[in-house]
Amino acid sequence: MKLSAHKKNGGYTLIVGCGRLGANLANTLYDSGQNIAIIDKNPEAFRKLSPSFGGIAMTGDATEITTLNNAEIEKATAVISVTNNDNTNIMVAQLAKEMYSIGQVIARLYDPERECVYHEFGIDTICPAVLSTKEIDKLLGVPEAE
Ligand code: AMP
Repeated sequence: MKLSAHKKNGGYTLIVGCGRLGANLANTLYDSGQNIAIIDKNPEAFRKLSPSFGGIAMTGDATEITTLNNAEIEKATAVISVTNNDNTNIMVAQLAKEMYSIGQVIARLYDPERECVYHEFGIDTICPAVLSTKEIDKLLGVPEAE
């Protein structure tokens, strides 16, 4: 597959996992003018993409290197791994950083205890539990911890 034929100008972002978060990101980033490819192991997941989504949707298991190669991960300026599995997200993020030297790598982590470890590897992490806690504390007027 020649992904480049589908691309608009600007960076190329590879999203792994087309769940609620992945699909939403793909839709908004595509609308903002980015080239997007999104991978999910379940083809039904792509139903969440908006009808106007013009990026590339690829079925495949992101823990398999051939899937990442088919998505031309080496050309990505950013890789965002938001499957529902922390181990998968960590594995994809580490491969993207170490093997393909991708500049911006973001992984969703459900387990907040693992978050700080990955910052040391230059991987940005999004932890829904931590973000939700911060937002709820803000609504409750709880002062931020130092
Ligand atoms: P959600 O829980 O709504 O954020 O959805 C997570 C998505 O990640 C689902 O659509 C899963 O099919 C997808 N997913 C989970 N593991 C993998 C994997 N190894 N490769 C590709 N997609 C995956």
